[in-house]
Parts: sequence; C-alpha cells; structure tokens
Amino acid sequence: MPFALLKYGLNNDYPFEKDADLPAPTALKRRYDVVIIGGGGHGVATAYYLAKYHGITNVAVLEKGYL
Ligand SMILES: Cc1cc2nc3c(=O)[nH]c(=O)nc-3n(C[C@H](O)[C@H](O)[C@H](O)COP(=O)(O)OP(=O)(O)OC[C@H]3O[C@@H](n4cnc5c(N)ncnc54)[C@H](O)[C@@H]3O)c2cc1C
Repeated sequence: MPFALLKYGLNNDYPFEKDADLPAPTALKRRYDVVIIGGGGHGVATAYYLAKYHGITNVAVLEKGYL
C-alpha cells in the first residue's frame, strides 16, 4: 500500500481526476476580491482564513491540477 501511495503521489497524470465523477468546473466571475494562485495547503488555508476571520468570501483559488 505505501508503494501505491508513493506511485500516486509522484504521478503527474492525477489518475483520480480521470476516474472520479467530478462536477464540471464553474465559470469564473469577472471580478474577485482576492485571487489565490495554487490550491495547495497554503492557498486553501489562505482562502479559509480570509473567510473565517475577515469575512472575505469573494475569493477564487486557481489550481492547475486536481483540487
Ligand atoms: C514527498 C513530500 C512529503 C511531504 N510530507 C509532509 C508531511 O508529512 N507533513 C508536512 O507537514 N509536510 C510535508 N511535506 C511538505 C508539504 O507538502 C509542503 O510544505 C506544503 O504542501 C506546501 O504547501 P504550498 O501550498 O506552499 O505548496 P503546494 O502544496 O506545492 O501547492 C502549490 C499548488 O500550486 C499549484 N500551482 C503551481 N503553479 C500553478 C499555476 N501556475 N497555476 C495554478 N496552480 C499552480 C500546484 O499544482 C499546487 O497544487 C511534504 C512534501 C513532499 C514533497
């Protein structure tokens, strides 16, 4: 099992994305108060804390891979 996880982690094809029944991406709005590039831990945490502690919810997180 650890080898399967390692193989998945190093795979640039993101096989889960192809297999999963993911919703279609929604269209982007014309404007956001904040745009975060990258949906890794820091990007997603930034969006979370903007909403939770600053009430800023008009936020786009742009991720090139699977989010
Ligand atoms: C093998 C490995 C094991 C690790 N294990 C641990 C652990 O056990 N515990 C721990 O605390 N930390 C661990 N880390 C470290 C942890 O993964 C990183 O510190 C953390 O993910 C950094 O978060 P980040 O949001 O800055 O970057 P990332 O998680 O790398 O996120 C950046 C995101 O930006 C996206 N991106 C990049 N360029 C663009 C672009 N032009 N447009 C749109 N999106 C873009 C990427 O696709 C990515 O999703 C590990 C790291 C590695 C490599």
